[in-house]
Amino acid sequence: MLSPAFRLPATVCLFVFLIAAFARPVQALDVNSLRVGVQGDKTRLVIELSEPAKFRTFMLDGPVRLVVDLPTYNWQVKSIPTEKGRGIKQVRQGPLQPGMSRVVIDLEKPSLVHAAFVIPATNGQRHKIVIDFKPSTQSEFMKGKAKVYGNMSARTETAKPAFKAPADQPPPSSTQYFPQAKRPLIVVDAGHGGDDPGALGSQGLREKNITLAMAKDLKAKLEGTGRYRVQLTRSTDVFIRLSERVAIARRANADMFISLHADSISRPSVHGASIYTLSERASDAETEKLAARENRADAIAGLNLDTQDEDVANILVDLAMRDTMNQSKFFANNVVGIFRSNGIDTLDIAHRFAGFAVLKAPDIPSVLIETGYMSNDREAQALSTPEYRDRLATAITRSIDIYFATVK
Ligand SMILES: [Zn+2]
Repeated sequence: MLSPAFRLPATVCLFVFLIAAFARPVQALDVNSLRVGVQGDKTRLVIELSEPAKFRTFMLDGPVRLVVDLPTYNWQVKSIPTEKGRGIKQVRQGPLQPGMSRVVIDLEKPSLVHAAFVIPATNGQRHKIVIDFKPSTQSEFMKGKAKVYGNMSARTETAKPAFKAPADQPPPSSTQYFPQAKRPLIVVDAGHGGDDPGALGSQGLREKNITLAMAKDLKAKLEGTGRYRVQLTRSTDVFIRLSERVAIARRANADMFISLHADSISRPSVHGASIYTLSERASDAETEKLAARENRADAIAGLNLDTQDEDVANILVDLAMRDTMNQSKFFANNVVGIFRSNGIDTLDIAHRFAGFAVLKAPDIPSVLIETGYMSNDREAQALSTPEYRDRLATAITRSIDIYFATVK
């Protein structure tokens, strides 16, 4: 079809041409390859990109399909893996709306996404988006299909015209993503404190002391990168109510809130880290009980919860909250991926959801990390050593790096 520009006078044509030329993103995004691997009942989809890009992924029904939305890209994929045994019927793709394109993977059976995260480009390797999905029952599928993973907003994101001369924008320095004032502010929350000891381990180990040591280690690690500002909700053994922890983050205008904990359970053999994001409904009964335990902190100190929960309940239906929750989930999945690739033990289902009071800032991506189990002697001992805490701090810092490199 002829472009309407062909019927316009030459000067307008030139103008349209210039807009078209400038409106193209400085670096066009290429989708370079799409690979599929099967491990047990899990299928892993890896999409290689020429540069970091926002994405979102979810399931659609009739036919059952996995959808991956990306900013407008050039499709450079040579071959598509659809041979039997991978659960994939066919792969389709094309523009969805201005500024956005969609990859559609038709599946053989109902499945749900279990994790979606990014692996940034490193020495010669391309930037990757990794999506894990598993077959589910039809009823699980209907319940879980709409869950969105990724860091792309629900709103349309169109590419902004790049009219500025290149000289207007200094190249980013290699050690710093942001100038001093623009460095993201991370609020790190050491769980419990004061009258509320949190979970208890053997040999007098207390969660409140371990979380405080972890928070200080993470602060030092993050500040050491030169890329972040960090504020702790507490730097001593004091009690702070849960709503105040959220309020601290909001007053400081935080870009991210991370609450650190260490769980306890009646079965001493259970061990591994898990990452929690806010949800109106708990992902399972165990998580619901955990949220109840963590939320009890205020009751322990004999304080009443204020009316904030009521307000937050209303905000929960807001789109802004949904975007924040999506970003929290995206970050949580990054943490899970980085923990696992760095040999940090996690629960089998490591990313879970529940109504944690401390995650209820409607505008700040927030996660709660249960770094391990106080009820498991070996893990409690590990958590009390600077070496293991350094591994955790390094992995969390790496996850934050990926988050801000992709989201901002
Ligand atoms: Zn705790």
